[in-house]
Parts: sequence; C-alpha cells; structure tokens
Amino acid sequence: MRQIIAGNWKMNGSVGGVGAYADALKAAPGHATLIVCPPYPLLPAFAAALAGTAVGLGAQDCHTGSSGAHTGDVSAILLQEIGARYVILGHSERRADHGESNATVNGKVKAALDAGLIPIVCVGETEQERDAGEAEDVVRTQLTHSLPENFAGLIAYEPVWAIGAGRTPSEADVAAMHAAIRAALVGQFPATGADTPILYGGSVKPGNAAALLALPDVGGALVGGASLNAADFLAIAAAAPGG
Ligand code: PEP
Repeated sequence: MRQIIAGNWKMNGSVGGVGAYADALKAAPGHATLIVCPPYPLLPAFAAALAGTAVGLGAQDCHTGSSGAHTGDVSAILLQEIGARYVILGHSERRADHGESNATVNGKVKAALDAGLIPIVCVGETEQERDAGEAEDVVRTQLTHSLPENFAGLIAYEPVWAIGAGRTPSEADVAAMHAAIRAALVGQFPATGADTPILYGGSVKPGNAAALLALPDVGGALVGGASLNAADFLAIAAAAPGG
C-alpha cells in the first residue's frame, strides 16, 4: 500500500511562504501520498497553489457542530468548502491544551465524516503511562472511545513524549504498538480495520524515517517540526518504501 506522509505545521508558517513550499512539493517522489496541514488561514492559499497536484490538504482541528455560537471554532463543512480533504483530530496538543476528551474527539470525527473529510485521528501515551506499562491499554482506550461506529480514515500513533522531543521509541516498541493498534482496529471494525493506515508520529526526521517507515504496520508518518522545511519533508517522503 502507498505510504502517507502528512505534515503538521501546527501554529507555524506564513502567507508569504506558501508558494515556494507548494512548488517544492510538486517535485515530490511519486511513490508516497503527501498531505500538508497548515494553520487555517493558509488553507485557501495552499488550495490554490496545490490545485491539480496529488498533494492532499488538511486542517488541524474542527468543531463537533456544523455551525453556531462557537467563537473561534471552525466547522468541518467550511474546511471542506475551502479545499481541505483531511483533518487532524485528537492531537495530543489539543487533548492537553484544550482539554479534549475521547468523547470530544469522537464528536469531531463524526462531524468530519459527515462533511466528507478524512480524519487523521491521533492516539498515544504519555511517558508516565509508558513507564507504568500502560501504553497499549491507554491507546486501546483512546481508539475505543475516539472512533465512531462509521469511522473511515487514518490513525496516527504519536507517543506524547516523542513529539518535538528529538527522541523516538525503539523500533521494537513502535512495531509492537502498531501491531496492537492493528489488532484493536480489526476487532472494532472487522470490515475495514485490516486496511486502515496507521501512521507513526513523533520526531520523524530524514535520518530516522527509513527505519521507522519500514516497520510492519507502519503506513506512513505524521511529521511536525521536520515538515516545516520542504527539503526535509521531501527527504522523509523519499525514505518511504517503494521509492
Ligand atoms: C506532531 O506534533 O504531530 C509531531 C509528530 O511533531 P514532531 O514531528 O515535531 O515530533
């Protein structure tokens, strides 16, 4: 299956930087699917710059509702209207900074699906949870409660302690967690769980991408810091198997 390399720009970037970045992505190796998820205000510029290319465009969050009195929030419908195809949901920074529970994430996933967006649902344990031997249980609970019955989309396994930290789990730990996620998805969604892409995220860089992307059940990467530099993002995509 084609690997998926998604860039999460978080609260970074500028209008002036969109054109050059989009031009660089047009030279991407064709064997992986690229997705860029910039802050909301950059979505229209990216939609225009990437029109006609195979690069996917995603947002970083959406509201559970379709409209209403929710100052500062953005609906999935509006994201779809302005050209987004994907939306990251349940990122650990949203769960921590905005108190998002699994139930909230579940509502957002439903809203995204209703709007025709493909959700990229993030799960992952804290360092304390891993040290306590609870990592797989925590992630299984997140999957059970964050994914609605009609889920169709991508999962990103992002250990919270690896995000922006410059360190990653061992390859054995990544493989074990992806196998646990696969088993949970097959149990929860017998018809589709075997084919749901499971991305790894957390300090993916050009130097470690090939090893991480080659692991069983790793279907791609969700890349934060390294996605801000087009050359690094393309180097990660080039490291995907099949190139
Ligand atoms: C992320 O926040 O989704 C992420 C993976 O960040 P980084 O690659 O910077 O660790």
